[in-house]
Amino acid sequence: MPYESELSVAKEAVRKASLLCSAAQSGLVDAEKHDKADKSPVTVADYGAQALVLSTLAQAFPADPAVGEEDSSDLRKTENADLFSRVVEYAQKVDSALDADSILAAIDRGNHSGGAQGRFWTLDPIDGTKGFLRGEQYAVALALIEKGEVVLGVLGCPNLPVDPRSPDSEKGCILYAVKGQGAFQAPLSDISAAIAISTDSVTDPDKAVFCESVESGHTAHGRSAAITSALGTSVEPFRMDSQCKYAAVSRGQASVYLRLPTRPGYEEKIWDHAAGYIVLLEAGGRISDTFGKELDFSLGQTLKNNKGIVATSPAVFETVVKAVISSAK
Ligand code: AMP
Ligand code: MG
Repeated sequence: MPYESELSVAKEAVRKASLLCSAAQSGLVDAEKHDKADKSPVTVADYGAQALVLSTLAQAFPADPAVGEEDSSDLRKTENADLFSRVVEYAQKVDSALDADSILAAIDRGNHSGGAQGRFWTLDPIDGTKGFLRGEQYAVALALIEKGEVVLGVLGCPNLPVDPRSPDSEKGCILYAVKGQGAFQAPLSDISAAIAISTDSVTDPDKAVFCESVESGHTAHGRSAAITSALGTSVEPFRMDSQCKYAAVSRGQASVYLRLPTRPGYEEKIWDHAAGYIVLLEAGGRISDTFGKELDFSLGQTLKNNKGIVATSPAVFETVVKAVISSAK
């Protein structure tokens, strides 16, 4: 099967990074959090997970570059020595071969600029850091892009219930897909126990369940409320952080994921979407931006030719896109 070894390495890397994040989330203290220059939060787990995944990829596929959300510049500052030693501690709990230098080097392997040439990995070590800090949903999101096209994606969702119909069931899922090979989910506790997943078959937009970001800075909540009411849906969108929203639509727990721009200049990052995008497409879903345009992952680190996201199960796609376009008028 194409990409068999890439998938197996990516799944194991995401499983290990998810373990690290789960271990960190329960006991996170202030000394393990940090604000980046853009004021967005980062934690020991973001750095530790990026180091684990990128060092695993470097061993298996040394020629492959990567685009990772984090870099080590803050960790190298003397005032952050305590934060850095905690990163080393967490990373070594999962991979004892990692030392301080190899952790910094692994984090900095994520400096590729993306684009249309060759192949590269994209990694968001913790997508939804704000959800992670609230003790809610987040995802480790890893994808492989070849000639500008997403060909493989893996999402580790440590707090997502394995069975969406029983929210109190075992938590922790991995979802993955390779282009042309379908989408699968397994419990993080046994990633070999995979089942095929698919989007729902809702045909009436008024029966569609919508989901969106918790953060009002990441999606326009008022506009989504206007869209659902125009479509005749009586149920409010449910809110969840991270690419777990792609997981929800991919396994039929929601029919629609809307991400509606909150400010004109914002460009969506490829690592916030690549893994979820291929899982959703392989689960039978459809996706575009808020103008109905295909997503273009070949333009560097951002989706600079797209605005926002509309991701749905197949039957409602056209209607939802039309409603989103009308809501802009
Ligand atoms: P979510 O958990 O779906 O709200 O998405 C989290 C991601 O939102 C983070 O990884 C950020 O890269 C991204 N983000 C930051 N600012 C914005 C913004 N203004 N609009 C959309 N996404 C954003
Ligand atoms: Mg993110």
